[in-house]
Amino acid sequence: MSINKVKGTYDVLPSESYLWQALEQKIRDILGVYNIKEMRTPIMEYSDVFHRNSELSDMVTKETYDFDDRGDRRLTLRPEGTAGIIRSYVENKLYASQELEKVYYIGPNFRYERPQKGRYRQFYQFGVEAIGTINPALDAEMIILAYDFIKRLGLKGVRVRINSLGDETSRANYQEALKNYFMPHKDELCDDCQIRIDKNPLRILDCKIDQNHHAVKNAPTPQDYLSVESRAYFKEVLEHLNAAKISYEIAPKLVRGLDYYSHTVFEIEADIEGFGAQNVLGGGGRYQKLVSELGGPDLGGIGFAFGMERLLLALEAENVDFAKEKDLDAYVIVFTDELKKVATSMLYELRLANLVADTNYTGKAFKGQLKQALRNHAKYLIILGEDEYQKGMVAVKNTETEQQEEVLISKVKKYLVEKLEK
Ligand code: AMP
Repeated sequence: MSINKVKGTYDVLPSESYLWQALEQKIRDILGVYNIKEMRTPIMEYSDVFHRNSELSDMVTKETYDFDDRGDRRLTLRPEGTAGIIRSYVENKLYASQELEKVYYIGPNFRYERPQKGRYRQFYQFGVEAIGTINPALDAEMIILAYDFIKRLGLKGVRVRINSLGDETSRANYQEALKNYFMPHKDELCDDCQIRIDKNPLRILDCKIDQNHHAVKNAPTPQDYLSVESRAYFKEVLEHLNAAKISYEIAPKLVRGLDYYSHTVFEIEADIEGFGAQNVLGGGGRYQKLVSELGGPDLGGIGFAFGMERLLLALEAENVDFAKEKDLDAYVIVFTDELKKVATSMLYELRLANLVADTNYTGKAFKGQLKQALRNHAKYLIILGEDEYQKGMVAVKNTETEQQEEVLISKVKKYLVEKLEK
């Protein structure tokens, strides 16, 4: 019997969840500033949403969790966020009411990969999609947003790497050129890349096994095959980035693993202690066929995604102080069963005033209760002792200054609210 966590998954424990909450809050705050609304789609979709007929990535062919439900429907746990968003965009005809729909999502994805540090089978991504319009200013906005987000998290050495695959024709010409270029080297490439030569030779450039092969290193780049219009489009994107004084680096070999990109592709990197080449925090690109492939009109979009575990690991490695656990305002120390009822009513009153308050339920002695209060970083202790209670009072102690005062029970809330405001 297996009652451990599933391989490649992890638990977020109570002591860690504030980090996730803070990251999510940061995302929501910044995306709000860019006037981008959240969209929530199911974590499972009919398999066809992901398993379409075009040249498929490894992520879709080898790594998805596919299963039949009890009604014999073929379903897939989403391996990425974009396809589900586009499915919903088409199904809800969002294009009919808005020329441009800008949305973000936060949620888990599932990929059957080999688990290692920072790589899981269930992992979180947040991403943005801007669907319905093709315009270089919009591409620039997405890149600026991704860059701004990583900067605001407090990471250092943030860099944009950018490239263009060009329009459909440029991309097709490049693909053909790559195919001819790699053909003489076919036998030297890994098994997957031998298949990729015919199906999607762009992905050979991303191959982890063949990355040091001289043919891969010296391969032609998309830049060599850009049509005049595509070149002009890319130039416009760069000029928008220049206007906003965003520094970027043109990365001629950047194609990104997914097969549906055209025109702009980009990645965001930062300097992160101990990450080495793993310093790519996220990236994305423009897609022109996805909406029509999923049954919608011929509209393009652009999007990007960041892996959230990797962001948290990066923040930890760089010692960025971006989140703080909420401390207790008050901890009620109480001994007798009779006084526990006084504590119950006092806690309710404090919480109604939105003070973060707690008490002890395990009948510990004073020392044990004090320890628990301090472990929770309580700012004030409220000590409900028998003698004070006879006078209608409690002892209230500031844990930082160690100053203690006797306060009327009926005035405790007012007393603490005033003290905490200062
Ligand atoms: P991708 O969707 O493959 O372009 O990945 C975008 C980002 O998601 C990457 O930069 C990673 O940070 C993150 N990511 C992708 N796969 C995993 C995984 N299996 N576990 C954790 N993070 C992942």
